[in-house]
Amino acid sequence: MTIKRISVPIFDNVEVYMSDEIMKDCPPWRACRELKFDHDPNDHEETSGYVLASTNGDIFMGINAGEPLKVIAHECVHAAWEILDFVGVKVNYKNHEMLAYLVDWLFENYIKKFKISID
Ligand SMILES: [Zn+2]
Repeated sequence: MTIKRISVPIFDNVEVYMSDEIMKDCPPWRACRELKFDHDPNDHEETSGYVLASTNGDIFMGINAGEPLKVIAHECVHAAWEILDFVGVKVNYKNHEMLAYLVDWLFENYIKKFKISID
């Protein structure tokens, strides 16, 4: 398992932990004990990716290596919603440009960090 930590530039308290594997144990972040949602690691056995959010804004994105790009895109949408919710940006049908930029930034970072080809 490889974990890459990145900070979201304009939301500098938010850290995103990107992993090329889902994990059964709690994510290795400082606020592991403060997950925003109830989290049962056994729920993830059948999944190819997931996003966990902590109460301090940290995000854990776990995506199994080799999953198709659509899984990465899917998890980036979840992560972006969580980040925007944490920083207080209300996303709706009239206000979603920030969501689009954040998804695009997360996706680009994920594929660069894990050297995933999109050719
Ligand atoms: Zn989903």
